[in-house]
Amino acid sequence: MDAMIQVRDLRKTYQMGEIDVPALRGVSFQIRRGEFVAIMGPSGSGKSTLMNLLGCLDTPSGGQYLLDGLPVEQLDRNLLAAVRNRKIGFVFQQFNLLPRQSALENVALPLVYLGGVSAEERRLRAQAVLEQVGLGERTHHRPKELSGGQQQRVAIARALITQPALLLADEPTGNLDSTSSAEILTLFEQLNGQGITVVLVTHDPDVAAHAARVLTVRDGLIAGDASAQRQPVNGVVPAVDTVRLRQRPSVVRRSAPKRRSI
Ligand code: ADP
Ligand code: MG
Repeated sequence: MDAMIQVRDLRKTYQMGEIDVPALRGVSFQIRRGEFVAIMGPSGSGKSTLMNLLGCLDTPSGGQYLLDGLPVEQLDRNLLAAVRNRKIGFVFQQFNLLPRQSALENVALPLVYLGGVSAEERRLRAQAVLEQVGLGERTHHRPKELSGGQQQRVAIARALITQPALLLADEPTGNLDSTSSAEILTLFEQLNGQGITVVLVTHDPDVAAHAARVLTVRDGLIAGDASAQRQPVNGVVPAVDTVRLRQRPSVVRRSAPKRRSI
């Protein structure tokens, strides 16, 4: 199996002074390269904890995590940072953009951290990913001069600039109106169609419906793992990816929303 993510008995307990808070109590699953998976569950069930572990932003208290075949818990800090920078793009609910920097500067930032990329190449690559997310005309705008949906697209462009194989998004549409949410989800579908593995946390079933598979987290454990309904073609049930590719419209670049939320 071509696994992007393999976790086994993954655990995380936070220490709050004298008190242990068991946020993840042993989860095991695999995600194949090219999958689009939604993670659902009630508030406090451990979704963000799981995403932070999958994104190598935090270390587990126990269990194993193979990221693209690499045993994450055995990597030293430097190697872990390198793996995170090269393989993973992260998108957050709050966008986390630097307010005084332009869209272009925000997007180019991961290349500054990566090092070895000239200023001119950083600018060209940032311009290219901003065009990819439909913001080629907005490169010099600061975050506050953009709508919420546009800010999230800047954040997605920032996640894409290192050409990650895995895109992790924690409630990416949580702060967006329904029109902007739909645009962001279309963008995730397009990126998934290009081969990027997408894992998205949401508590909105309409958002989760865009994914081919839904993992449900409850009380720090996996409570469900459901694949989308697959229709047999000539008596054969094709792989999920085949169905999704067939159903996906050819690349649609939507015009920027006119509405400004800020
Ligand atoms: P979700 O994203 O599903 O809402 P979280 O992963 O944020 O859930 O939280 C899971 C549990 O872990 C909750 O009980 C939460 O209070 C606790 N928790 C999360 N982060 C921390 C932290 N940094 N320190 C202590 N407890 C935490
Ligand atoms: Mg959360």
